[in-house]
Amino acid sequence: MLLNPNQLTRKYPDARSGEIMAATVDFFESRGKARLKADDHARVWYSDFLDHIGRERIFASLLTPSEYGASADCRWDTYRISEFAEIVGFYGLNYWYPFQVTALGLGPIWMSDNEDAKRKAAAQLEQGEVFAFGLSEQAHGADVYQTDMILTPSEHGWTASGEKYYIGNANVARMVSTFGKIGETDEYVFFVADSQHDRYELKKNVVNSQNYVANYGLREYPVTQADILHRGPGAFHAALNTVNVCKYNLGWGAVGMCTHAMYEAVTHAANRHLYGTVVTDFSHVRRLLTDAYARLIAMKLVATRGSDYMRSASADDRRYLLYSPLTKAKITSEGERVITALWDVIAAKGVEKDTIFEAMAREIGLLPRLEGTVHINIGLLAKFMPNYLFAPDGELPLIGRRDEAVDDSFLFNQGPTGGLGKVRFHDWRAPFDGFAQLPNVALLREQIDVLAEMLTSATPDALQQKDIDFAFGVGQLFATVPYAQLILEEAPLSGVDDALIDEIFAVLVRDFNSYAVELADKRATTDAQAGFAMRMIRRPVFDQSRYDQVWKEHVLPINGAYQMRP
Ligand SMILES: Cc1cc2nc3c(=O)[nH]c(=O)nc-3n(C[C@H](O)[C@H](O)[C@H](O)COP(=O)(O)OP(=O)(O)OC[C@H]3O[C@@H](n4cnc5c(N)ncnc54)[C@H](O)[C@@H]3O)c2cc1C
Repeated sequence: MLLNPNQLTRKYPDARSGEIMAATVDFFESRGKARLKADDHARVWYSDFLDHIGRERIFASLLTPSEYGASADCRWDTYRISEFAEIVGFYGLNYWYPFQVTALGLGPIWMSDNEDAKRKAAAQLEQGEVFAFGLSEQAHGADVYQTDMILTPSEHGWTASGEKYYIGNANVARMVSTFGKIGETDEYVFFVADSQHDRYELKKNVVNSQNYVANYGLREYPVTQADILHRGPGAFHAALNTVNVCKYNLGWGAVGMCTHAMYEAVTHAANRHLYGTVVTDFSHVRRLLTDAYARLIAMKLVATRGSDYMRSASADDRRYLLYSPLTKAKITSEGERVITALWDVIAAKGVEKDTIFEAMAREIGLLPRLEGTVHINIGLLAKFMPNYLFAPDGELPLIGRRDEAVDDSFLFNQGPTGGLGKVRFHDWRAPFDGFAQLPNVALLREQIDVLAEMLTSATPDALQQKDIDFAFGVGQLFATVPYAQLILEEAPLSGVDDALIDEIFAVLVRDFNSYAVELADKRATTDAQAGFAMRMIRRPVFDQSRYDQVWKEHVLPINGAYQMRP
């Protein structure tokens, strides 16, 4: 179930996709762990990695829509992008990040009507250039409605002045997609800026890492019509639509990071003897590792299934708008829990400088906080809750595995971002019905039924819905439902055995309990709602033989199964 770089198993309809993954693994394994660690500690800019990406045409293949591709292997295909994100995450956030911000930077370009800019971007991808996404500003953070990057009319178009903050790759990218406003008309605008232009001031790297996360300023930077990607409301939609597409990759980054940490942690614990016993024989260590494994497999199942909905997206099927922030908010937070559990097992080893683990522990917390915090994304999910829970649409097509070699062209043609409350979903109960015989799946179903009852009988009032703290309490409970639904949909596609599914659901039942207690504790929660929250609590079913099976067949075999080349 876990990515093992020595045995890549994903099947692709073409040879090139598998070659991209193998070449990427080979790059890291040939350099070896010592070099990976040394570069991380010395915060070395990864020009060798970017050279490899350019030489092998990896971003050109993965991130150019076929219409603009120089060769037949170019397409934007979420199925293969997702495995690439997992692989680079496996070797560290430092390598996942330049990929991610390149994808983000390309978003407003591929969504634009500016054909020359698109052709230029395609040519730059072929030359091995990376891209950057200049949305955030120091003063405005998550408030993307505000921008102090202002375009003022000039002889040849405009001049842009202002600053951007937290912008990855903005030290080298030749096309930095930059968000601002045309001062004269108060219109939003997305335009491209060249980091090598003399009116582009690279002020500093705001982070202490291999990544360059820039603060840059434009000082009366000349902008012509040829540089404009979007103008008016379309510019704002392009910003949000780009984030919709790319935040999905954050989940895969977390899956990759946790997978590598898991290999190290299990191998360490299974070979350490204390007080005459192997560390993995301590009952709490078994529990921690089994939970971490169950959480990690759940993360992977959700991310894998999410790809099918990203790829099936259309104007009539916008289910991806729920699954993308879900991937982002839940999977990345689960990643933090996995790392914490593994750290409790390996203790001091987790800070040793030669381990992969210490880097993952240092970096895993970034993912839940990028591209909207967990609170923002869970808040977003709540918009879908009424239709998702109470108004299933039987007309929506059943989606199978989407691994065909085609472009996900709708992702660059999503249209306006509004109307989230109108998005419809298929019936979440169907996959639950298919696994009703598993005791913990049945228990979670009971818990969700009480949540639905609470929402209809003790419906949060307008004031509560505006209270982000309260809404987050409800949102955490709700997010568990599509998360569980995607796990159950993916389980048969990935061939997961019943013991493991039930173990995963035992964890979900426990999580649901803790979210219910949290909701009951909130000041804004009414007595009636708190009563429902208490009624949601269930004791997960413990089955010794299931627990032993997961331990013996899934967790223990991780011992020694993979080690990065020295
Ligand atoms: C290493 C790194 C790399 C980055 N790379 C890029 C990049 O390449 N390009 C780019 O454009 N940006 C980038 N960012 C910016 C990142 O996306 C922002 O950090 C993020 O959007 C949140 O802004 P903030 O961190 O300033 O938080 P703030 O805006 O200061 O948020 C503070 C608090 O307010 C809450 N909050 C804000 N708005 C809402 C809301 N509507 N509902 C509920 N809660 C809310 C947040 O949850 C948070 O708790 C990067 C950031 C980092 C740290």
